[in-house]
Amino acid sequence: MTVNSAVNGTAGDALGGHPPGGAAARRARELLERERRTHLAELGLLEGENAPDEAAMARRGTLQGNLEEIDAAFLRLDQGAYGSCEDCREPVPEGRLEIIPYARRCVGCQQRRR
Ligand SMILES: [Zn+2]
Repeated sequence: MTVNSAVNGTAGDALGGHPPGGAAARRARELLERERRTHLAELGLLEGENAPDEAAMARRGTLQGNLEEIDAAFLRLDQGAYGSCEDCREPVPEGRLEIIPYARRCVGCQQRRR
């Protein structure tokens, strides 16, 4: 499936989320699974280090945090809440989800939190 068909496919229901089983949800699942694989692979490499330095430790923390976010995103997919901003309930742009498939918020809301 192409990126375009995901963008032009299911626009989401009234909640702004991706309905489970729809084309956009399938695409999101693919992206999340890929993300989880690459995170687990990198984490495995880092955990294989005998004397990790501070940067490696920090990276491990980031990866573990992201993996939790990925799991939470899978849950939202099952519930049909995926793709809807947690704060404003507007759809999170597909382009953002392509880059960060586990994003909980649209760019505007995420920036207000920082
Ligand atoms: Zn928002």
